[in-house]
Amino acid sequence: MYGYHGKIVRINLSTGKISVENIDENFAKKWLGTRGFGIHTLLKEIDPKVDPLSEENKIIYSTGPLTGTAAPTGGRYMVITKSPLTGYIAMANSGGFFGAELKFAGWDYLIVEGKSENPVYISIKDDNIEIKDASHIWGKKVSETEKILLEEFGDKHAQIASIGPAGENLVKFSAIMNNGHRAAARGGVGAVMGSKKLKAIIVRGHNKTPLADRQKFISVVKEKINKLKNDPVAGSGLPKYGTAVLVNIINQNGLYPTRNFRTGVFEYAEEQSGEAMAAKYLKRNKPCYACPIGCGRVNVISSVGETEGPEYESLWALGAHLGINDLGSIIEANHICDEMGLDTISTGGTLATAMELYDKGILKQEDLGDAPPFRFGNTEVIHYYIEKIAKREGFGAKLAEGGYRLAESYGYTDAFMGVKKQELPAYDPRGAEGHGLGYATDNRGGDHIKAYMISPEILGYPVKMDPHDISDEKVKMLILFQNLTALIDAAGLCIFTTFGLGADDYRDMLNAALGWDLSTEDYLKIGERIWNAERLFNLKAGLTTEEDTLPKRLTEEPMPEGPNKGHVVHLKEMLPRYYALRGWNARGEITKEKIKELDLEEYF
Ligand code: SF4
Repeated sequence: MYGYHGKIVRINLSTGKISVENIDENFAKKWLGTRGFGIHTLLKEIDPKVDPLSEENKIIYSTGPLTGTAAPTGGRYMVITKSPLTGYIAMANSGGFFGAELKFAGWDYLIVEGKSENPVYISIKDDNIEIKDASHIWGKKVSETEKILLEEFGDKHAQIASIGPAGENLVKFSAIMNNGHRAAARGGVGAVMGSKKLKAIIVRGHNKTPLADRQKFISVVKEKINKLKNDPVAGSGLPKYGTAVLVNIINQNGLYPTRNFRTGVFEYAEEQSGEAMAAKYLKRNKPCYACPIGCGRVNVISSVGETEGPEYESLWALGAHLGINDLGSIIEANHICDEMGLDTISTGGTLATAMELYDKGILKQEDLGDAPPFRFGNTEVIHYYIEKIAKREGFGAKLAEGGYRLAESYGYTDAFMGVKKQELPAYDPRGAEGHGLGYATDNRGGDHIKAYMISPEILGYPVKMDPHDISDEKVKMLILFQNLTALIDAAGLCIFTTFGLGADDYRDMLNAALGWDLSTEDYLKIGERIWNAERLFNLKAGLTTEEDTLPKRLTEEPMPEGPNKGHVVHLKEMLPRYYALRGWNARGEITKEKIKELDLEEYF
C-alpha cells in the first residue's frame, strides 16, 4: 500500500494501554484519510449522543495520504471528535509541521480514548510511544509548554500539538495549537483534550511515506506548484498580504460583517487590511510544511515582540466584528488567544454577542462590576476578557460557554450570530447567498472552510457566479464545493490550493502517489461519502432540520447599506432544493437509497 504506513495506534488514557492496529487498501480507498478515517471511527466506536467531555468520547488525530509528502501544502492533520460546542461532529485541521511529523513517525492516525486521572502528555518517537506525566506543564501557556517539552524530549525537530489554559478549563471553543500559532481551532477540540487531561502530543519520526512512483509523483507535483505560482491569489495576493488580503475585497463587496453583523461595511477596514498590516508590522512570511503559497505572517509589535498572524478571520473577529479599530491591539489579542489556546473566531463572536446584549440593555453593567463595558468599539474589552475566558475568571466563565449559551442565559438568542451554536466567520451571507446556504448546512456548524462559496460568488473561482443567484446551479455548486473540500481535507492538503488547482489536479497527485487509477468522479464520491457520513453522525446525535438555519438577522433584516443594500438570504427557498439535490428526504435525512449508493449500510 502506497501513501500510507498501514498502521494506526490506539491510546487508552484510562488504562494506559497502547495498541497497534492495521488498515488496508480497501479501507483507504473508501475513506482516503483525515475526516474519512475520523468519521468512520466515531460512527463505529462512540454513541453519537455521548457527552463530548466524558470518558466515552474519543479524539482522533489523523493524516491523509499526501501528508508528509512533497505535494504542495502536504502537511495538514485533522482532529476529529464530538464537539462540546455544537454537540455534533468537530473536524478541525491545522497546518504547520505537526501533521507531517506524525506521518514521518509511521502512523496514519491516532485514536485517543478514555480519560487520565492526572495531567499527561503522549510522547511518540517512531514506534516508541509513552504516556508521560504532565503535571509540570499543566496551566502553562502554549509557548511555555512547547519550550519545556522540546527541552525534555531532547530533539529540536520534534513537533508538538498542545492545549493552553483554555482547553484545560474546558472552554467550549478552545483550540489545539501547534508551532505556537497554528490552530486546529473550531468546535472546542481543545476542551476534549482537556477533559481527558491530555496536555500535549510530542512527535518525532524518521520514516518516508512510501510512494507508488516517486519520479512521476515529483513531476506531477512540480506541475501543480507551477499552477499555484501562476495564480494571482495563490501566487501573489496570499504571499504578499496573507489571508488579510481579503479585508478590502470583502469590505468593498459589502459583506464584511461589522458590529455583530449589523452591516457589511466597516468604515475602518482599510486601516486594518492586509496591506496596512504589511506596511506597519510585517517582518516576514512563514509557510507551513511543503507550502509554496506561504500565507502565514510573522509580525512585530512592541507589546509582545515577534508573533504570528492574525489571519483574515482572526483580524475580523477581534476587529470589525467588535467595531474595534486598533490594529496593534488586534494583533496582541490574537497573540493572547494563541497562547491561551482559544479559537479566535468564536472568541470574537462571543464578545460580539455580549456587546449586542449590552447595547440592547439586556446585559447590564451591574452584571460586570468594575469590568469594562461591552460597548462596540471598546478596545479595552479584548485586553480585559480574553485571558479571563481562558481561565474562566469572573464574567469570563460565562463567556467561556460560547455566544449561544451566553445569549440563551439572558433569554435573547437573537443576539447570537452563529449556526448550530458555533459562531459565524467573516462573511455576511446577505452578500453571498450560496455561502449562507453553506453556513446553514455545514456539518460542523457556522463555518466557512468546508465549502468556500466566496470563491465563485465574490472572487470568481472557478467561475464567477452572481452572489444573489439562488438557482439550482448555485445549490449544485455548493454541494460540489462541500464534496471537493472533504476530498482535499482527506488528502491532507490545505484548502487554499483551490486558488489555482481544480478537482483533476488533486486526482493527478493522488493517483501518482497511491498508484491508483481512480477518476475525478471516484474521488469526489469519497468526498460525498464523508459528507454524508458526518451528516449521519449528526442526525444520530439528534440534529433536526430546524438547525439547518441562519440567525434571523440574516434572513429577515435587509442589509442596511453598501452594494448589498436591501438583500437578505433566501434560505427557505434554497434549503429544500439542497436536500433534494443531495438525495435526502424533505426532513434532511439521508435516504436508504443514498446510504446504499455510498456504501454506508454498516453505519446506518
Ligand atoms: S496556504 Fe497558508 S495555511 Fe495553507 S499550508 Fe500554506 S502557509 Fe499554511
